[in-house]
Formats: sequence, structure tokens, C-alpha cells
Amino acid sequence: MSKKNAEYDFKWCPGCGDFAVKRAIEVAVRERMVRTELPVENNVVVAGIGCSGNLVHLLDGPQPFGIHGIHGRTLPVAMGIKMANQDLNVIVVAGDGDFLSIGSEHIGPQALRNLDVCAIIMDNGVYGLTKGQSSPTTQTGEITPTTPYGKVEGVVNPLHHYLSLGVSHVASAFSSKPREMAKLISDAMDYPGFAIVHVQSPCTTYFDSYDTLRGNAKKGIEPGVFDVPEDHDASDRQAALSLVTSGKIPLGLVFQADEPVTLGQRLGMAYAKAKPKGIEDQISAFNV
Ligand code: SF4
Repeated sequence: MSKKNAEYDFKWCPGCGDFAVKRAIEVAVRERMVRTELPVENNVVVAGIGCSGNLVHLLDGPQPFGIHGIHGRTLPVAMGIKMANQDLNVIVVAGDGDFLSIGSEHIGPQALRNLDVCAIIMDNGVYGLTKGQSSPTTQTGEITPTTPYGKVEGVVNPLHHYLSLGVSHVASAFSSKPREMAKLISDAMDYPGFAIVHVQSPCTTYFDSYDTLRGNAKKGIEPGVFDVPEDHDASDRQAALSLVTSGKIPLGLVFQADEPVTLGQRLGMAYAKAKPKGIEDQISAFNV
């Protein structure tokens, strides 16, 4: 990724939650650089398509490597990068449309492999870049350009989805709490395995959900989020499933598998069992 490109004309709308996500990633990456004494080039940001994907071009300060790839395919691209160089810190950034719709088919396989990357998902409940069409997290009945009579499908509960698919580390954040988000991202980057930080990141232009998330006493709206209770056992997947189906959105570390074995370690164990064949043996294998 080049330095922030002044000629790149994409801009997020005022108040977009993605600004806070950008800042939290910058804070987490800089903190990691100081702590590990590794250069910024040790980090790679992989983005899909959507407003969230433009984060690759908008980061300030020292620049990690970056790739703004194709729609829904952040995880396969991230896998290729990680397998080529397991020492890299690979950060996936994607939106709810990108990650949970076209990209959804990649979550399960990477959970089973325990691909060692940190995915940060910016959930605004719509396809913002293409002007507000319904996404997997848009509420049923919501009127959007693609659902003029109300969305007829059900709604994906992303945290439940990740837990059900076996993701090893699941955290939940809100763009209005950037410090807490930066800490969750930092922990997810350090976790040896597939880590997802799912962020409520409202779209102020097409689906402003700040009131429903933060609550609004004047309008009689209760907050839609709550902090993960201190006594929550994050190593218990069943407890995590109960937490994410409580009707409101928990904020904090939801689940973290103990002693995960990463894809890199699994491949290392497989290679150790392999018996490489010499040239003669390989040629002999073609004999009839
Ligand atoms: Fe953010 Fe929505 Fe604007 Fe996209 S359209 S930049 S998600 S506020």
C-alpha cells in the first residue's frame, strides 16, 4: 500500500462509523510495532469491496502493505498471503455485505483450518457503497432500494454465525467505543488462530443505527448493546452462544478457544510426516 493517496478521491461520509474503525486499527498496529519491535511492513491489510474496503487507501501514518481485492474474497487472499509468509500479521477488513453475503462461504472453511488472521468486520446493516441496498444484517421488513416493500428474508446474527462455524476467537465492538475496539483488535491480532472482531459501524447516510445501538432516552429507545459481563466465561462456546442470542448485542470478548492449533502448525505437522521422493522415485512412479 502506498502512502495515503491525495489523488484517491474516495471519502467516507461525515459521521460514518468506519472512521473509528480506521483509527482503532491504526492504534492497534502502532502499539504492536512498539511492543514487538517489528516494522510496519510486517503488517498486511486485506480488503474486499465496499465502503469498508476503502480503508486500505485511507489509513494515516506509517503504512502496512495492503491489497484491495475482489468482492467477498478477503479470506482466500489472506490465506494465500499467510501461507506464503507466516511471520506476517494479516488483517482482513470487510463489511457485512462483503463478508456475510458473497464472502460467507469462506468463513466455515477458514474456521476449520484455524487460519491465523485477524478479520475486522464493519457492520452497518446495508450495502453503503452502492447506495443502501439490503444486506444480510438488514432487519426484516426494512425498506431499501432493493426491498421497496420491506425486506422479506430473515437476518443473520453474525456473532452466532461465527460461533456456530467454529471460529476460534470472536469479539464484538462498537464504533462509538474506539478505545475498547482498539484493545479488542490488538488482542485479536495477537491470538494464534482465526480471530474476528465484529464492529457495529453505523452508516449515517443510508441506515443510521446510532440511536438503536446507543439508545435515545428522549425518543424512548433503549440501548441495543451491553458490555459482556465480567463473569462471562469466554472459553465456553455454549455460554458465548447464549450471550449472543440474548436479544441485544454484547460488546467485548465473546469467545476464545484455549490452546488453538493454527493452520500453519497443522501444515508443519503434516510436512514432518511427508517422505519426499527423489527424482528417480518420481520417474519410476510413471512406469507401467
Ligand atoms: Fe459510511 Fe454509509 Fe457513507 Fe459508506 S455510505 S461512507 S458506510 S456513511
